[in-house]
Amino acid sequence: MRYAFISDVHSNLEALSATLEDIGGHNPDKILFLGDAVGYGPNPNECVEILAKKSDLFLGGNHDWAAVGKTEADYFNPFAREAVDWTAKALDKSSKDTLSMTVADTVYDGIHVAHSTPMEPEDWRYILSSKEAIDNYDYIKSNVCFVGHSHQPLIIEYNDANDFSVYREAGMALDPGKKYIVNIGSVGQPRDAIPDSCWVLYDLANNMVMYHRVPYDIRAAQEKMALAGLPKYLIERLSLGR
Ligand code: ZN
Repeated sequence: MRYAFISDVHSNLEALSATLEDIGGHNPDKILFLGDAVGYGPNPNECVEILAKKSDLFLGGNHDWAAVGKTEADYFNPFAREAVDWTAKALDKSSKDTLSMTVADTVYDGIHVAHSTPMEPEDWRYILSSKEAIDNYDYIKSNVCFVGHSHQPLIIEYNDANDFSVYREAGMALDPGKKYIVNIGSVGQPRDAIPDSCWVLYDLANNMVMYHRVPYDIRAAQEKMALAGLPKYLIERLSLGR
């Protein structure tokens, strides 16, 4: 079985379309979406509709839930907050229904997936420090757990509950005797200084994780954001990948 993992599309239709086309060329058995269909970008309804149609799993993220009033947006930075308010107004009934029905984590085909963390999936924390990596160890329900949210493509490999290594490789064969958290990066707003969209192919047969980067028409997305009156900071960060 070969899975395509995507996350953090953030209403970026140009990035999503280019990514799905690239994924199509690899012919995976399933496409699993780990949340944040909306927020930041100019095409929330289009992205929700396409993701609902093409994905075998549709998790909810903090931006999705904030846009439909399912979680607080108090802690969002001012730019994210402005985009959430814009998104809440732009969403149609069918998109709102889709986003309202999502869960923030689940076990799918025996694979634990979460938008943010396996430990507190609805608290929207990040796994970026040693403490957070160690804290999450006991909550991983499968050998390999896939997450999104931080927009940082990286692989945490545990040697035991208190010892781990972090890898930022384009591809890696996972040790079947070890536990992992794999952050699959972001389709619509990469933050690892590479502006190209990011997705992951996971091949169960050889336990192989491959990151794929896909260039897309950033300019077109930025022009639509400007027309929609979305914050300049959010527009500019797309070309920087930050
Ligand atoms: Zn996100």
